[in-house]
Amino acid sequence: MSKENTVAHFDQAKHVIVVGAGIGGLTVALGLAKQGFHVRIFEQTSALSEVGAGLQLSPNAMKVLREFGIKDRLESHAFTPQKACIRDYHSGRYYLEAPLGKHIEQRYGAPYWHIHRADLHKELVQACYSAGVEIELDHKVLGYREDHKNATVLLENSTEHADIVIGADGIHSKMRELMLGVQAPIFTGQVAWRGTVPAAAIKGTMMEPNATVWAGPNKHLVTYYLRGGEWVNFIAVEERAEWRSESWREAGDVEELRSKFVGWHPEVTSVLEACDETFLWALNGRPTLPKWHDERLVLLGDACHPMLPFMAQGAAMAIEDAFVLVTTLTKYPFKDAFEKYESVRKPRATAVQRQSRDNAALYHMHGGWEGRLKLKALGVASKYFSR
Ligand code: FAD
Repeated sequence: MSKENTVAHFDQAKHVIVVGAGIGGLTVALGLAKQGFHVRIFEQTSALSEVGAGLQLSPNAMKVLREFGIKDRLESHAFTPQKACIRDYHSGRYYLEAPLGKHIEQRYGAPYWHIHRADLHKELVQACYSAGVEIELDHKVLGYREDHKNATVLLENSTEHADIVIGADGIHSKMRELMLGVQAPIFTGQVAWRGTVPAAAIKGTMMEPNATVWAGPNKHLVTYYLRGGEWVNFIAVEERAEWRSESWREAGDVEELRSKFVGWHPEVTSVLEACDETFLWALNGRPTLPKWHDERLVLLGDACHPMLPFMAQGAAMAIEDAFVLVTTLTKYPFKDAFEKYESVRKPRATAVQRQSRDNAALYHMHGGWEGRLKLKALGVASKYFSR
């Protein structure tokens, strides 16, 4: 995206406030700043600390990160998986093996990487600072209003104005609530455990260098390497009748986690044996929103399309949103830009939300699963990487 494409319009936004310095907020801020917009981010947390675990960055996301000049900064943190696999939880038999590595890079023109969220976050923050983005920490946005002249966000101790506001404030979005009222989460009947383990601490069977879904009855577990292979990331999903917390920081009990996966393949149990800390969160669904923007406020990422993690596309969809919003805001007056952004992004993000939801049933062996598993997963593995 070159800066020369920029066309000056009456009603074109110049001053932008982004609410939330997560993956989507930082990416959109970076893209806009590179196009000459003045961007301020308000983030509620008081420090940008190392939180989270692994993310999968498929070529659709990598193309945006390359376009915004950040791919090279990420390379030293990444791990390139050789295959995407679905395997039997007990025997280890392969139901699906799809090539990643060089094959996917040649096919789609960008790599497929695993990365720690904290590494991606850190590099985005640095790139934002270099591009002139102002990031205000410890600034929780509490309210919003707009009129024909301004968009205004209300913070605890101040009131800030801009031409437009981008609500990139994640799954519990305040900006979404201010626009549309409370959207009650719907518990999916599943909880997820996550953790990272130093590869050197794993005794016994070592994992292959792949992104693997271990499919089992009413449960599944995903494993892959991070940070050049020095760490292993896992997410284990279990069906449960009741659970409330949806926080990324809720600690889980490691012994309980291990007890749920007794009898699973040694590649799985050796990772769980080496684990000394885990986090547990409830997987909630949310209805599709009737709209993604008001006159001067637009939503992005999990704020408008939170998704279950069964296609590993949550971060990628936020990154794609950022690209489309930067492109439209650069070319059009913001009212048209918001319309075009929503019309391009909503059908795609909704389809990915739906597919992610459907994958849980596949991975948990519901129904006559074997043939379905192969066919559906094959389609899913490649369909969304190519944009
Ligand atoms: P997020 O990346 O969730 O960012 C939202 C940001 O908005 C956060 O920084 C939040 O503090 C801020 N915010 C919220 N409300 C306000 C407010 N009122 N005022 C100001 N700021 C506000 N996904 C994974 O797949 N693996 C992980 O390990 C993982 N770890 C995560 C850890 C944390 C702490 C968080 C917040 C999210 C994590 N995610 C993880 C989710 C993943 O980052 C998102 O699903 C995806 O990247 C979409 O990004 P987003 O920008 O829409 O939202």
